[in-house]
Formats: sequence, structure tokens, C-alpha cells
Amino acid sequence: MSKRLMTAPSGTNPFIIQGLQARWGLLILLVLSLPFATACGRSSKKGKNTAVPDRYFVLGDPMVMLDGTLPDKESFVTTATLGDFSDYTLAGFTVFQPKVDVTTIDRVDSQEELEDQNSTDDGQLDNELSLYSFQREGDKLLYKAQGEGFNDYPVLEFVEVNGRWDITAVSGDPVVAEHYSLSADKRVFSILISDTDELGNYLGGMTFTRFDDDQKPVPQLDNSYQYLGGKGLAIPWEGPVKVSICGDLSAEDQETFNRSITDWSVAMGDPTGTMGGLSYEVEFVKNGKPWTDVNQHCINLVKSYRLETQEDTAVFGVTMPVVDFQNFRIVDSQIFIFHDALSRFREAYLLTAVHEMGHFWGLGHEFSRDIRGETLHPSIMGYEGINSITDWDKAAILALYPR
Ligand SMILES: [Zn+2]
Repeated sequence: MSKRLMTAPSGTNPFIIQGLQARWGLLILLVLSLPFATACGRSSKKGKNTAVPDRYFVLGDPMVMLDGTLPDKESFVTTATLGDFSDYTLAGFTVFQPKVDVTTIDRVDSQEELEDQNSTDDGQLDNELSLYSFQREGDKLLYKAQGEGFNDYPVLEFVEVNGRWDITAVSGDPVVAEHYSLSADKRVFSILISDTDELGNYLGGMTFTRFDDDQKPVPQLDNSYQYLGGKGLAIPWEGPVKVSICGDLSAEDQETFNRSITDWSVAMGDPTGTMGGLSYEVEFVKNGKPWTDVNQHCINLVKSYRLETQEDTAVFGVTMPVVDFQNFRIVDSQIFIFHDALSRFREAYLLTAVHEMGHFWGLGHEFSRDIRGETLHPSIMGYEGINSITDWDKAAILALYPR
């Protein structure tokens, strides 16, 4: 079995990456963040923010992200099925913290640095895969990456309650199980936990995908479009895919998020429900599953929580795709739109949501520039204020989902 791992095939949020590296170690995250003071022409608050302690940004209690959701607290891991969960790889891993230690931040001070940090063209395709299996340790079970070189990866501890195994700790820290989810074909599962540390409450989501056969070739297309894996590295949904608009939203917000999906079809000249060779369905779910659920791919509107990494930037939206590294397919994706960040800038949701939907379909960030620094390929997947889906975006989608 060949072992490769594409870690972080995307732009990454520096604060979350830092938090993760300190705590655990792997993540797939796409961020749309816009600086206060560059292209948008907004005044910077740099150095003037006295409302927060020196070392930390206060971003809110991430537990609000579970408000109104219907979690499944019963573990799918039973004594009889333990063997089914051998040879999975950690494919998605995100921690939402209540605040951030600014001393760990890799500061961004220009548009160039911002694009550099959020570039999807990293080409990280040659790392070794973590292969997890259960092993007994006393009356506990450890779900652990086997082999050398995975000391930084989370070790999940389970104890048995009436034939089911519940997660009770991660890498030695006691945690609370918030949500379990398992796909129908059992190829993908996720576990969401919470805990409280010196910073406050945090949420940790871990998604695993089965790796039980030879890995398919890395899907390299002969083009310059930016995808989740990087330039030309096309990782699509298998399709059809159901996109869920989740939460107790106003009719207006529902319509906005619906448009952010169907605008792609309109731009492609396709009827709603089709985009190139991909078919999709849209549903509205008032009380959805928590965000790690592998069977529900949500656009979530988050209030009272922000993801900013430094005082003069704003993160408007984030998309977290989960890739099956054996077959190079997207198997889950979750979008967050951050209401408080958008309202600080009086930005409407739509543009951010259309951009995030681009990531949802499998597009990366389009930042390429010519030698004068001018945008080479105008795209809604760049940060240049392009406010509609362009010919470049359409061609990228069509190459990913040929008719
Ligand atoms: Zn983005």
C-alpha cells in the first residue's frame, strides 16, 4: 500500500494552525480573510485595540457553534465492530478556540503576505499517511496512528459503557463527547469533542477516512486552475451532492445562501441542481447536526464568534473540506459564514458565500499575478474584490466536472 498524505491542501488560518500545532497537528481549512487596511481602504485599528488583554484576542465561546443542533451522543463504536475501524487516516482536524495567543501568530502586514499565507498552491502531496487502529490498554481502548513519526497526532481514548465505546480523552486530556457521525458505507466518520483549558471552552473535530486499498494516482490535470490540492490537482465530489443550509435563519438569509449555491449554476448556464457534470440538491435544515457531521454538508451562519487572527484583519468565511486520500474525492465539506465579522465591515453575505461555495465544489484560491503584480486571472476565488463568478472560474469548474 502506498502511503501518501496530502495535509492542509489549502490556505490555512495561521491562528488555528498555531493552536493546532501546539495541541495536536493537522488541519484542512480554507479561509477568506480580508485585511482592514489594504485594498478595501478601511482604516486600520492597529495598535489601538485596548478592549482586549495584551496577549489574546477574545473571539467568543465556540460552544455557540452547537446552538440549535441535534447531536448524536451515542458512539457508533461497539465491541462487535471494533475491527471495522482499522486503517483509517486522519483527514480533517479542526479546533475552535475561545481566544488566541497573539505571540504565536505569524502576522500578516500586506496583501502579498495574506495571499501567501492563504495560498492553495502549496503542493504538500508527499507526506506519509497516518493509519489509525484500535489497541487495548488495560480497560481502555486507544485509537492511535500506527508506526513511527506520528507522535504529534491525536490519540483517542475510549472506555466501554454497555457495549459501546465512548471517547473520554484525547492525547491524555479528558474531553466531553459532543457528536458522533458515521457514513452509511462506513468509509468516513467523525468525532466532535469539547474541553476547557486555560483559554476557556474549545471544540475539536476529527474526521477519519478509510484507507484500505492502493491509493489512486494524484489527480493532476494539465491546466493552471487552482483546486484543493493545488494547481491542476483536481479533487472533486463524486456526486450527486446534497448541500444543506443549516440553522434557524431568516427567509432573507436562506435566500442569500441558496443563491450562493445556485449562482454557480446560473453562471455555468446550467439549470439549478446541475453544475457542469455535477448534480446537487439543496435542502434547508433548521436544526442540523453539529458541524463535523459527515452525512450533512452545511452552510452555517455563525453569530457571536469570530475567527480573527489579528486585530486588523477579518475572517468572513471558512470552508473545511474533508478529502478521502485513497480515492482523492471530497467526502465532506462545511462552510461557516461569520456574521459578526461581516457586519463590522457592513459586508453582505452573498459574495463571501459564493466564494466559500467555490471551495465547497473543490476550487482553491486564485492569487496568480503577472510580473507587475497585477491579477493574472480575475476570479471570485481571489481576494481582489471580484464580485461575480468569472470565465476563469467557470473553466476551472468545468475541468473539474466535465459534462
Ligand atoms: Zn477562500
